[in-house]
Amino acid sequence: MRLLMAGSPGSGKGTHSRRLGEHLNVPHIATGDLLREQVSLGTPLGRNAQTFMDRGDYVPDDVMVAMIKDRLAQPDAQKGFILDGFPRTQGQADSLDKMLADLGTPIDAVIVLEVPTEEMVRRLSGRRTCPTCQRPYHMDDEPPKDDETCDDDGTKLERRADDEPDTVRHRLKVYADRTAGVVEHYDTDSVVKRINGEASVDEVQERIRTALGV
Ligand code: ADP
Repeated sequence: MRLLMAGSPGSGKGTHSRRLGEHLNVPHIATGDLLREQVSLGTPLGRNAQTFMDRGDYVPDDVMVAMIKDRLAQPDAQKGFILDGFPRTQGQADSLDKMLADLGTPIDAVIVLEVPTEEMVRRLSGRRTCPTCQRPYHMDDEPPKDDETCDDDGTKLERRADDEPDTVRHRLKVYADRTAGVVEHYDTDSVVKRINGEASVDEVQERIRTALGV
């Protein structure tokens, strides 16, 4: 299955894509994770991307498109994928259309997680992430078993620089201005599944699976 996971920062895209990817046995491809990996490796791409990410701005389309093209060509993506965080601009959506048309592999569904703004701010400010495996936690909703370390690998959890309150507000504005409308691009194909994302993680995951019939 080839799926896009859409929704604003804090809507739960990462958490649900990860779980759904395990359930469907397809890779979870998160552009934010791919970028943060480049940043931590200190590559030229990572150094360039970091200036945009720390401000809560988007990394330029040409960089993102090249990155996704490369990732979708990997062997594990041939059986399907969940794309989390791409496309975020009209230009990226057009490029993805072209890529998938060339490969003859259309998208099966676009999941849109809908959550009210004040809830997104609450979620982002309580969020912590494992810098090693990128697993997300929430200090109130989904805390780690052991204080502030990752359940999977024991690394000390961190708060992302872009989860600071001012940057969160900026990211939500950028999303509203540049990304919210991109979903309409897919509406004509009736592949869009809008999911109310304001419930427990288990409940929302169940809603997604029911909507997809998986
Ligand atoms: P969130 O969805 O919660 O904002 P992500 O981890 O998905 O967090 O993304 C973090 C940052 O990475 C974004 O704020 C942006 O700077 C950059 N980024 C991720 N995906 C894209 C994309 N498709 N286009 C441009 N920039 C992106």
